[in-house]
Amino acid sequence: MVFKPVPPVPMTAEPSLGDAYITTSVDAFLNWGRRNSLWPFPFGTACCAIEFMGVVSSVFDLSRFGSELVRFSPRQADLLIVAGTVTYKQAPILRRIYEQMPEPKWVISAGACATSGGFYDCYCTVPGIDEIIPVDIYIAGCPPRPEAFIEAIVQLQAKIDKESRKEASQVGA
Ligand code: SF4
Repeated sequence: MVFKPVPPVPMTAEPSLGDAYITTSVDAFLNWGRRNSLWPFPFGTACCAIEFMGVVSSVFDLSRFGSELVRFSPRQADLLIVAGTVTYKQAPILRRIYEQMPEPKWVISAGACATSGGFYDCYCTVPGIDEIIPVDIYIAGCPPRPEAFIEAIVQLQAKIDKESRKEASQVGA
């Protein structure tokens, strides 16, 4: 087989930016950085936490969304993922972990147990973590599939995109 010769690409000096410039807003710039570098703190108490382990493993690869840097210190995390059953005995611990996380911070409630107490209709189980801390995204399922975790991250990114520093300062955040 004979290949046609490819004409050489003319080498020119890299053009300067000239009059070109980029504009954006502080909100858009900060949100872009925050949405793509969420550092999760997993509060895993039961089987849903196993699903989260699958999400950060190589098959589902949460690093594609910039959220693979799992931290086990709340002071280094901005995304609290509650995965599993939460009892009233654990509730003060969960609340303290949330309060130790710096602003801005977000919460994902993963699975039926964290969201509603699941099938544990008993005196010791919290019927939903939103009785203790604010929740941004809920994930349905028992257990939720890893794809559902990824969907929650994508939904949270979309929510962060719409956040405004002006509104945050008005509520004192
Ligand atoms: S929702 Fe289901 S899988 Fe998740 S912690 Fe509860 S019982 Fe386990």
